[in-house]
Amino acid sequence: MNSELLPHGGDPMGAAIYDFHKNGAAGGRLVVHSSIFDDDEIPVEDLFRTFDRMPALEQAALRMAEGRVLDVGAGSGCHSLALRAMGKKPVAIDISPLSVAVMKEMGIDARLVNLYDENFAGQFDTILMLMNGSGIIGRLENMSDFFGRMKQILAPGGCVLMDSSDLRYLYEDEDGSFEIDLADEYYGLLDYQMEYVPSNSPVTVLGEPFDWLYVDFDTLAFYAEQNGFSAELVAEGEHYDYLAKLTLA
Ligand code: SAH
Repeated sequence: MNSELLPHGGDPMGAAIYDFHKNGAAGGRLVVHSSIFDDDEIPVEDLFRTFDRMPALEQAALRMAEGRVLDVGAGSGCHSLALRAMGKKPVAIDISPLSVAVMKEMGIDARLVNLYDENFAGQFDTILMLMNGSGIIGRLENMSDFFGRMKQILAPGGCVLMDSSDLRYLYEDEDGSFEIDLADEYYGLLDYQMEYVPSNSPVTVLGEPFDWLYVDFDTLAFYAEQNGFSAELVAEGEHYDYLAKLTLA
């Protein structure tokens, strides 16, 4: 058994990132549990994607990033590394201690910070939220808190670049109609729980369950407007995914 894995409790994605960083390969499987889906798996090497392997929407966001850049929920730091290669100087934040440790080892200006912690101050020209960046908002009810927080840390004229997906395709019938019960929770709200299953250890790392929001562009634009922002659809991906730019109206 690899005793290095033991202190990873509660930080499954960080544990996966840490092992990959140390060993140069995935040392296990990163599993996503949800009450709505069958178990899914995130290939750990995808978290270390280089610019060339990133989806076009992420590449577009990195090209647009300018000035003081904040990489929110930075994970392995793949976007921060790509930004640095472009001569930009990002600050990366994440709540995963092991992810932040790995980013620091790679020389990234990384901080163990929760986006919603008001002790973290700054004035950023570009706030990046990528790989379903709306996930960190958690639920639609948190939209006003999210936009309020963006107001605090955006520099004048700055913007938030966020990608997300419209999950309506999950409810699409074969004839193209949609069956979504409006009395239910918003259809983009998912509950996730991550687990890292190391291949060389019987000890798995189970994280706390959390809400993870996918939001369609129109709903995002509605909440943006309610909170004094405007939302621009920058680009659309191949599968109901998109990149949005949020600016103070
Ligand atoms: N942006 C990275 C990782 C995406 S996974 C990539 O594209 O590969 C989402 C990340 O957000 C995780 O690393 C998680 O720890 C972090 N995160 C979740 N909630 C957060 C919060 N409130 N503040 C900062 N980071 C958060």
